[in-house]
Amino acid sequence: MTGVKHMKWWGWGVEGVGFHWQDKPAFRPFVQKAVALDVKVPPSKPIAFEDLTVPAPILADELRETLERIVGLGYALTDDESRVVHTFGKSIRDLLRIRRNELGRVPDIVVYPADEAQVQGVVDAAAEAGAVIIPFGGGSNIAGSLEPIPGEQRTVISLDMGRLNRVLEIDEYSGLARIQAGAQGPDLEEQLNSKGWTLGHFPDSFTHSTLGGWVATRSSGMQSDKYGDIADIARGLRMVRPGELVVLRPLPSTSTGPSVREMIIGSEGRLGVITEVWVNVHRQPAVREVQAYFFPTWDAGLAAMHEIAESDASPSITRVSDARESGFSLATRKESKGFSAVAQNTLMNVLKRRGWNLDDMCLSFIGYEGTSKHVSYEKRLVGSIVRKHGGIGVGKGPGALYDQKKFDTPYLRDFLLDRGAAADVSETAAPWSKLKSVYDNTIAAANRAYDELGVHGWIMCHLSHSYHSGACLYFTFAFKHDENPVAQYQVVKDAIQQAFVDSGATLSHHHAVGLEHAPWMEEDISTGGVHLMQALFDAADPQGILNPGKIL
Ligand code: FAD
Repeated sequence: MTGVKHMKWWGWGVEGVGFHWQDKPAFRPFVQKAVALDVKVPPSKPIAFEDLTVPAPILADELRETLERIVGLGYALTDDESRVVHTFGKSIRDLLRIRRNELGRVPDIVVYPADEAQVQGVVDAAAEAGAVIIPFGGGSNIAGSLEPIPGEQRTVISLDMGRLNRVLEIDEYSGLARIQAGAQGPDLEEQLNSKGWTLGHFPDSFTHSTLGGWVATRSSGMQSDKYGDIADIARGLRMVRPGELVVLRPLPSTSTGPSVREMIIGSEGRLGVITEVWVNVHRQPAVREVQAYFFPTWDAGLAAMHEIAESDASPSITRVSDARESGFSLATRKESKGFSAVAQNTLMNVLKRRGWNLDDMCLSFIGYEGTSKHVSYEKRLVGSIVRKHGGIGVGKGPGALYDQKKFDTPYLRDFLLDRGAAADVSETAAPWSKLKSVYDNTIAAANRAYDELGVHGWIMCHLSHSYHSGACLYFTFAFKHDENPVAQYQVVKDAIQQAFVDSGATLSHHHAVGLEHAPWMEEDISTGGVHLMQALFDAADPQGILNPGKIL
């Protein structure tokens, strides 16, 4: 037992937790309409672990013994389950393949170093033996950032960072903390909270992803409007490379040439293994509230988010769902009873009297943090912008529910997979002036792909993570698949990604590149940009042993 927690090998999160629809009366008709699936169909069970065909490890005794010597007996594992758990992330492609016993190339050994010196030992031993090193955080990425390249002939070592999970030091005067890279979200927040601090980085995968993974994939959390993306939060770091250590002290800013810190952020293990990160931390706010609003249309919601970004207001979350995603959110609510049911009916009647078409209505969540005086001021500013765009505030209730449930939503994907439907996400960012056309083009492209496949598909979107010059659009898509789901998924995914780059948006705002998004890199950063990045990888890793094949 290594003491490191992992998600279940066949799906999201922990065993025994799942999505249930029976207490959500609108869910079954919603799914029937969206993807022509009756959720009452008996679920299929994922393949039994014993039925997986796990290839034998390619591992010389000498290297195994060396690794055991470095990390200690019991921390260099070659059993099938450890190797399978470390093969994939959690994209729908990963889950479909694992459920279909299409494992491909599986790491040969999983090592759990206890400290930076052991990480250095493992990396140096790998370099000496010409073995591949793939750093493993929480295994939650959805871009194909972990799987060994198909047909890899060299030994593949998965380097699990899970034992390096401590907050080492807090510089209270500067608002900085030094944290080991393998710390998962709840681990590091608990340690910070116990001293009155927070990182403020809450991706939807928070419960199962790590600080090192966030940095290596340029992650963004739902409160990025206030706290920044991980690229803003991570101020300094340490990274082990073959034969050397990169040490970047925490600095608020620096003019020391092209930023090595920025080169490492988003590097997906291609430059080395991040062992520690200095991050900005903040005092826990006295008040934290998520307020819900309704807008009559998507256009009104978008315009309001733009105006909030231009205004003096500085909320921690800005999020508005399109009408389809708003319908989905309402369909996943539990049955309302008593006063709450009456209040909801009254609200809907008021909106209808105002001339709203309830099918076009868009749900928005805005987060506020700070002293109660500051929060009241912010709410007033935002409230007047919402009203100017025809919106209406509906209080804290739905926001509090969203806040509680946000980390449970990923379980829905496994529920749908068990019933024959594939669901996944693609997200992007673009300037404000392009967001509407990016949205329209992406929806049209997905629908064309569904027509081409002859499937009844669904796509919905929300805007989140607002910046001065633009915002992120986050699309969720789903369809009932046939017996070739990976190929069908690829058609839809390709159409969506292509629509992003063709419309002037990026291939991903915060899910990184991995193998899945690599085909669009040249269109995203230009041929010259690819040459520059390739030169960096070639020079930094002449043996090609650091998570090869990812990003480019
Ligand atoms: P892993 O998946 O283990 O690894 C990802 C990549 O980083 C790999 O290339 C790996 O080699 C490299 N890596 C990991 N640790 C290190 C290290 N110490 N040094 C060097 N390289 C390393 N992402 C967001 O940003 N925001 C979200 O809201 C969000 N929501 C998600 C919701 C769901 C349901 C899922 C499945 C994913 C979501 N993601 C989100 C994507 C994912 O959680 C992020 O990409 C996350 O940052 C990955 O972290 P990890 O620790 O799981 O890394």
